[in-house]
Amino acid sequence: MSRQKLVAGNWKMNGSKAATRLLIGEILQGITKVKTAEVVVCPPNLYLAEAAALLAGSRIALGAQNLCAEVEAAGAYTGEVSAAMLLDVGCRYVIVGHSERRAYYGESDAVVAQKCVRALDAGLKPIICVGELLEERENGRTEAVVARQLDAILAQVEVTRLAGALIAYEPVWAIGTGKTATPEQAQQVHASIRGRIAAHNATIASSIQILYGGSVKGANARDLFNMADIDGGLIGGASLNADEFLTICQAAG
Ligand code: PEP
Repeated sequence: MSRQKLVAGNWKMNGSKAATRLLIGEILQGITKVKTAEVVVCPPNLYLAEAAALLAGSRIALGAQNLCAEVEAAGAYTGEVSAAMLLDVGCRYVIVGHSERRAYYGESDAVVAQKCVRALDAGLKPIICVGELLEERENGRTEAVVARQLDAILAQVEVTRLAGALIAYEPVWAIGTGKTATPEQAQQVHASIRGRIAAHNATIASSIQILYGGSVKGANARDLFNMADIDGGLIGGASLNADEFLTICQAAG
């Protein structure tokens, strides 16, 4: 099955009002060079409303980087932002379970799954991040770790609901390090993710978009995106530079 390619930029905790305006303006200017790929940008929460206004009427979608795991759409959760609020300011996507959230904020597999449910319930598309640590890869445990992370999602999310979700395979050792998985290494894990989902539902497995993330740049994007099970990328550092980000988007089609 041919799946639409998608490129999402994860800006992380970077930018300002002015930088958001500048970067989105530059991306909007160059977006006509991107023929078919879906494009998403995920600025920090504070700049989502500004970004939504700038992106209105364009083909670039808006995403957030995180959301509250609690079931309530509003309430006494200081500092948290609910799925309903993200939807309200114009988000269509939300990153869930990024390795930085797992490592620095103690998000367990179960919490990540809960966030995935919250996103789906609200009508947001979660971009569910999975990936192994360097030590886990070196011990030959990559596929087992990714399977555990996926199974935690499937334990809380009925598989057909993944029709409204994306997976991002992000080897932790490749994030922000300049080290990229080779296209073959990434393809192997992507195929194993698809296989794991296929054991539950073959139709969902063949249609779900599985992105690769980890030091993707203009120079390596095409080779990665040409692999059979790689349906685009989740881009960190390189998404902060409009030219680089657009080159990656163009590599996706
Ligand atoms: C990320 O944080 O999702 C990521 C892939 O970062 P980078 O592209 O900088 O490695």
